[in-house]
Amino acid sequence: MSSGSGSAKVVVVGAGFAGLSAAAALSKAGFQHIQVLEAKDRVGGRVHTVRPFGPNIIELGANWIHGQKDNPLFKLAKEHKLLSENESASATMCLPGSVTPRDYFFTERGKPLPVEEVERVCDHFSRLTSKAFDSKLDKKHWSLSLGAYLDDAFARSPLASPEGLKIFEWCKRSECTDEASSSLYEVSASQISNYVALDGGFFNCLGPAGYQAILDCILKSIQSGAVLTNVCVQRIEWALDDGDGARGHPVKVVCEGGQSFEADHVIVTVSLGVLKRQAWAMFRPPLPKSKLEAIESLDLGTVDKIYLQFDERFWPEDCAGIQLVWDEGPESKCAYESLQEGESWKETWYKKICGFDTVARHPNVLCGWITGREALHMETLKDEEVGEVCVRLLRSFTGWLVPDVSQVLFTRWGHDPFVQGSYTFIPHNVNGVKQHKALAAPLPLPSDSSKRKALQILFAGEATHVEFYTTTHGAYLTGIREAERIIDHYLTA
Ligand SMILES: Cc1cc2nc3c(=O)[nH]c(=O)nc-3n(C[C@H](O)[C@H](O)[C@H](O)COP(=O)(O)OP(=O)(O)OC[C@H]3O[C@@H](n4cnc5c(N)ncnc54)[C@H](O)[C@@H]3O)c2cc1C
Repeated sequence: MSSGSGSAKVVVVGAGFAGLSAAAALSKAGFQHIQVLEAKDRVGGRVHTVRPFGPNIIELGANWIHGQKDNPLFKLAKEHKLLSENESASATMCLPGSVTPRDYFFTERGKPLPVEEVERVCDHFSRLTSKAFDSKLDKKHWSLSLGAYLDDAFARSPLASPEGLKIFEWCKRSECTDEASSSLYEVSASQISNYVALDGGFFNCLGPAGYQAILDCILKSIQSGAVLTNVCVQRIEWALDDGDGARGHPVKVVCEGGQSFEADHVIVTVSLGVLKRQAWAMFRPPLPKSKLEAIESLDLGTVDKIYLQFDERFWPEDCAGIQLVWDEGPESKCAYESLQEGESWKETWYKKICGFDTVARHPNVLCGWITGREALHMETLKDEEVGEVCVRLLRSFTGWLVPDVSQVLFTRWGHDPFVQGSYTFIPHNVNGVKQHKALAAPLPLPSDSSKRKALQILFAGEATHVEFYTTTHGAYLTGIREAERIIDHYLTA
């Protein structure tokens, strides 16, 4: 390691997976002046392991490690024996869209749907989405939104009966959870093939300490005292060296309350949602046009979870989830288009809830999933109101004796000022690769002809990964990527 690296000052903004992995990689490489600034009173960002229902954990944010082969978080979890202790925990850990014989599907008229019929439609739906993920779309579908492509392809199937179409609508609603979108008509059909699913099981669950245990592992590699919580970065002044070769540090990070930090390099890991709201005010001089365009064109959708705790289980023991199939749900094209105008969709926000899944290690708890504008609307409601609506849905769809809920806990990721959404998606008509790369580019850009110092501001975080955006391992890898950029800079200096 060159001598410069030992004295180089690096500030990391945000202590989610991206920020922590960057700090850990720099620490391991011998950097001695690293400061991680985190606005919240905890590390983890969109990873938040809590214990509101007793000693066992639930995850308010990320739940699974997606994929095994070459997944650094799967490797870390395996090495430290942090993976789920048994298969059954994996099977029942809130699987949105999981269609096993143990998922119970009901129509809004209270009729249970035969498992075989549901599986036929869901299998076909999976084949259609796989075609998009595997870049095997027919030419005529390339320019369509994911919703429009699926409608066209499904309409040609013999499964497109009136009942089949209702189940198809549920599949689209469930897919919105994966895409974090308000509607599949807002997602690009061709661009989802940019996302690379790593080989091996997709839904890997963590053991009794949850995702927090992985954060703790990474924290051990970071110098003590390097992470400051409750420190909100307000402004990043860069290019301070411009025309002033004598000045030591080209960047100054100013925090709420007036505290400030000088730095040679700042790694910004705040979410795309925070950048959307604050990029203009946060950077001085302002970010270049290509960066602002990337921030504007990519999108951060909202996915929320609704945990319902009951005094006792009212569903059969073999039930993995209660799924809600509407006569006309918000994801059918007709309903979607008619709801575009005005605010009437707010009255039926609950139609966007896919269903309620059972929760590992919590025999009396269900977890509902909701996305998009309806999730954002739900976030403005009171806990009791949401709980009552959910119980009403469960009663009317299943016809079972559903007791009142004893505790309701739902997430408000969309209104969280330090996140402003859940994970990234590529909107229809946006070039994902170009925009993810533009978002990741360090400043000053190579096209900048001034003699400014290199790598003043670097960008990490899930939205900056071309292939693994939306995921924890994507976030983790972007932190390593930016740390290595700085490490290489000093190696070649
Ligand atoms: C409900 C939900 C379910 C999910 N499920 C999964 C899953 O099962 N598997 C999976 O792989 N991924 C999942 N994800 C996505 C995953 O959690 C994220 O992709 C990942 O955690 C993002 O990490 P990050 O470091 O990029 O960003 P973040 O975790 O958002 O970290 C950024 C940090 O910056 C801080 N910050 C923001 N503004 C400031 C400021 N001004 N000053 C200082 N600090 C600031 C924030 O507080 C935050 O801690 C889920 C996300 C959600 C919300």
